[in-house]
Amino acid sequence: MQEMKGRDYKTQFWHESGHPVLSANPATERLMSTFYSLANGYLGLRGTLEEMPSNASPGFYVAGTYSAAPRRLVPIHPLDHILSHPEYAKPKYHAGYEDYELATIPNLPNPVAVRLQVEDESIDLDSADVVTCERLMHLDEARVTRRLAFRDSEWRRTIVDSERFVSWANRQLLCWRYQVTPDGHDAPLSAEPYINTDVTNDEDSKLFEIVDEHGEPGLNRITVQLPKYKQVTISQAYEIRQEGQSLVMDVAVGVSEDDPAAADAVAKGSLAQGFDALREAHLEKVRRTYRRSDVTIDADAFTQQGFNFGIMHLEMALPHDNPKTTVAVKGLTGEGYKFAILWDTEFHMFPYYLFTNPEQARNLLLYRYNVLDGARENARKNGYRGAQFPWESGRTGKEECTPWLILPDREIHISADIAYAVKLYDDMSDDTDFLVDHGAEIVFETARFFASRGTWNEKKDRYEFHSIGCPDQYHTTADNNVFISRMARWNLEYAVDLAGDERLADVVQKIGLTDEEVAGLKATAEKLYVIPPNEDGIIEEFDGFFDLSADLRGTSERFCEHTQAAKQPDVVLAFLPFPDDYSEEIQRKNWHFYNARTMHGSSLGMAGMALAAARIGLTDESLDFFVRATRADLDSVRPDTELGVHLASYGVLWEVVVLGYAGLYPSRDGLHFRPQIPRQWRDLSFALTWCGCRIKVEVSHDTVRITTDAGNPRDVPVSVLDGEQHRLEPGREYEFGLGA
Ligand code: BGC
Repeated sequence: MQEMKGRDYKTQFWHESGHPVLSANPATERLMSTFYSLANGYLGLRGTLEEMPSNASPGFYVAGTYSAAPRRLVPIHPLDHILSHPEYAKPKYHAGYEDYELATIPNLPNPVAVRLQVEDESIDLDSADVVTCERLMHLDEARVTRRLAFRDSEWRRTIVDSERFVSWANRQLLCWRYQVTPDGHDAPLSAEPYINTDVTNDEDSKLFEIVDEHGEPGLNRITVQLPKYKQVTISQAYEIRQEGQSLVMDVAVGVSEDDPAAADAVAKGSLAQGFDALREAHLEKVRRTYRRSDVTIDADAFTQQGFNFGIMHLEMALPHDNPKTTVAVKGLTGEGYKFAILWDTEFHMFPYYLFTNPEQARNLLLYRYNVLDGARENARKNGYRGAQFPWESGRTGKEECTPWLILPDREIHISADIAYAVKLYDDMSDDTDFLVDHGAEIVFETARFFASRGTWNEKKDRYEFHSIGCPDQYHTTADNNVFISRMARWNLEYAVDLAGDERLADVVQKIGLTDEEVAGLKATAEKLYVIPPNEDGIIEEFDGFFDLSADLRGTSERFCEHTQAAKQPDVVLAFLPFPDDYSEEIQRKNWHFYNARTMHGSSLGMAGMALAAARIGLTDESLDFFVRATRADLDSVRPDTELGVHLASYGVLWEVVVLGYAGLYPSRDGLHFRPQIPRQWRDLSFALTWCGCRIKVEVSHDTVRITTDAGNPRDVPVSVLDGEQHRLEPGREYEFGLGA
């Protein structure tokens, strides 16, 4: 068990039957391409075989380059699909959308492609006899290696080793080494890299136009124009040499937006440093990055593997020093949701980033601030005040979710989810400026939106939310969903609190927030209806949920709204931000009630159930979901991994370990621990940054050990179980007994 701990673990995926990867089923190769995706928050490269067999699904993406794309990218659901807009059947509805443009990140010409020859035979993996193909994802190194061997038509066997990484040390760079070795023959070999332009986004949509193509010995370069956006240049510098019997090709790819010379400079300059040095710089950055989270769990090898795979992907998705973009729902690993940015980022992934890399987490919020005008425009268009963040966001902050889906008007919780992340950042970081310069404006504008979105119910003397889309997307038109109402009430209350903060006087003035309006926000919050638990302690997900059918057989996205089947568990979700609202007994009752009704149509279901259970002592139940959720992608527990990995679920799994099993309750005043680690594990550990202080936490069944960083600017207030608060000084180690 010991040697499997931590991240120092390699993983291997293979298919055994017949030709290992060249399965007749293209979906298998699409899945592999997701498994072996690499990224650095700016460049994303799917794990496609370099020889580009016909079933390859190459993907090469640059973060934030959302460009115009045809409407066919979003499949048309049947009219009775739960996500279809009710007006959708009417011809007048369609008329306006014939030429509707979507936004997505274009799939760029792929620079990890090779032309391979043995003597004068061009090797084509569709026809060559592939005798083995093994790919390794080095989770601890964000690096992929591969060995492939094939026989050509003359029955000569040749071995190809390759290695690639998307550099974490230089965000504009990816590196690739390709080595060909004859196995018992002396036929001449040749290999040459090229930039493959025969690539498209899904549905055969080619989203670039080549404006310049250049080739010279040792360098290929292509500049493309993205539809209604900018130009991107990809430069591929390479060097080919003989090493003993092997032919070795080193490739450095540089990418630049709008500046071809810069792409050349990255590619050529990097290649000149040598592949080994580039690899070392990358690995050094990877090691430093992982030290920030440094999370280990004492689970079985498969669970650790899935968990570490998730942490690696969270890190690979995070943009660096770029407040103009953020983490898309699948990162840069595939085209699912056409790279839209959803609540997954703020509600499910943000805590991981906040507690491991607050400087970059700040940029995620800055992105939302930078598109605030789009959200304002969105609210205005829909007849509301303030800012309504789009359900699916892209470059501009306008709604990118297609109007023939029912979601855009109704998935309103996203605005409160973003405001909530602002508060988390303000509480848990040592940055006091963000709230003043950016955050408060988001909070005020989203509160304004909720106040205007509410409906006054005269008879019942309360505000209500009608016709809203629950996070549980099996119910897309509901009244008074409890998660949404609770989040909205919190958003209103927070805005009222902040309005009284003198530091924010300029913001209040800038957006014209009057005392009268603040009083209105307060009154709305006070009178906003949040469904309470019934006499049995069960909280109704929304009005009328209890009246729905309890017969859940045959649930599908076209057969669900009449039942109590939930796609993902909304009610238990509300326990995380508001742990004090309900007693542990009520939380447990609701966990069991909704566990029986949650169908896990979303990957957020299993992780969400694991988190809620972990916080209320249902540790066995939690672990069961945790283990399954770690395998969401690698065992294809989710059916759609070929479209990219389930990033948000991995963010929640990190929360299960830290906020669940380690029982961390963080606040601005300090850190409180109430650990409940699974009896099947001996221990767990992680590193954390809180208010500018770094600590390492190790939790076993008997103790919590905390080591504080010597460079911490202040003491860290910590309490464990019901014990008193201690102030942990910099550079020391403390141990707290759990009195087992
Ligand atoms: C879930 C949403 C989620 C989206 C992207 C959907 O299946 O219902 O809550 O935002 O997937 O992960």
